[in-house]
Amino acid sequence: MQSRLLLPVLLLGAGGLAAPAAAQGSLNLYCSVQNEWCQAVATNFQRDTGIRVNMTQRGSGETLAAIRAESQNPRGDVWFGGTGDPHLAAAEENLTQAYESANNAGLHPWALTQWRQSERRAIGVYAGAVGFGINTELLARKNIAPPSCWADLLDARFRGEIQIANPNSSGTAYVVIATLVQLMGEEPAFDYLRRLHPNVNSYTRSGTAPIKAVARGETGVSISFVHDAVTEANAGFPVTYATPCEGTGYEIGSMSIIRGARNLTQARRFYDWALTEPAQRLGFEAGGQLQQPSNAAAPLPPNAPDLSRIRLIEYDFAKYGRAAERRRLIQRWDREVGSAP
Ligand code: PLP
Repeated sequence: MQSRLLLPVLLLGAGGLAAPAAAQGSLNLYCSVQNEWCQAVATNFQRDTGIRVNMTQRGSGETLAAIRAESQNPRGDVWFGGTGDPHLAAAEENLTQAYESANNAGLHPWALTQWRQSERRAIGVYAGAVGFGINTELLARKNIAPPSCWADLLDARFRGEIQIANPNSSGTAYVVIATLVQLMGEEPAFDYLRRLHPNVNSYTRSGTAPIKAVARGETGVSISFVHDAVTEANAGFPVTYATPCEGTGYEIGSMSIIRGARNLTQARRFYDWALTEPAQRLGFEAGGQLQQPSNAAAPLPPNAPDLSRIRLIEYDFAKYGRAAERRRLIQRWDREVGSAP
């Protein structure tokens, strides 16, 4: 389920032979977007700068846990992507460091809100909304009407038909829990999650595993980011998405420089680079990803969900990005939902 890579990216010369990177030093990149995008970012940055990249891909919650565990002896330099809440928690726990890039000027306001809220330690690189991924063929074959509202997912017709990730490892799943708490209030939200449990066939490690399972026809419905449903549809799978009628939450996918980074100059160079328009186009052009880029000059990819047309809640990033609140909600989920038979 999880793809974890530690990959020194080799540059391929014109003749296809590996050419050594110029002596520009190296960068340890922790990456929490999908693997294709992580690889494209690593390869292109290395090609553009000659800085050798060692990339490790893990989910947002897992990366936060790793940075925390390594805090006395940091091994990563920069953390690219993943949901915004764990980046905010890392900032509050003093696991990351402040930086102001000259490229901030070209960003959408929401990317800078994240930066200010984290005391200049995390910045928005993309945004995306939570919703339902749907395998249209599978549901039609089983004669199941697709969901349009959160309330629909509790219906017995979805028994064993839904996948969502585990919030311990996945930032996506935490955004879902925080969204439900903000939409319904905490007690009704946990009541909802407990009632959803019989309809869930698996709590996956990675936030994108459920939509991939939908694409493969292993499950009818995922609770996941809607841009990932479009990625699967573009790849030819019978997938569509719905955004919940009651409203839904969203992420500000973020980037942070790790406190104690050994390669600080290279980390800042990466950070500046990742905010540029050509780097932000890579999400779609090399990774097939359809998030809304934070660089205002980077176009919304074709068929990407338009956030301005989705009924979004006013997600309280300051509150739900707090380390203690995140930990408390995840522990409650573990006790009341994740460990239920
Ligand atoms: N991959 C993509 C394309 C995403 O948009 C996100 C969210 O930021 C993630 C991965 C995060 O994955 P996870 O929920 O496993 O932390």
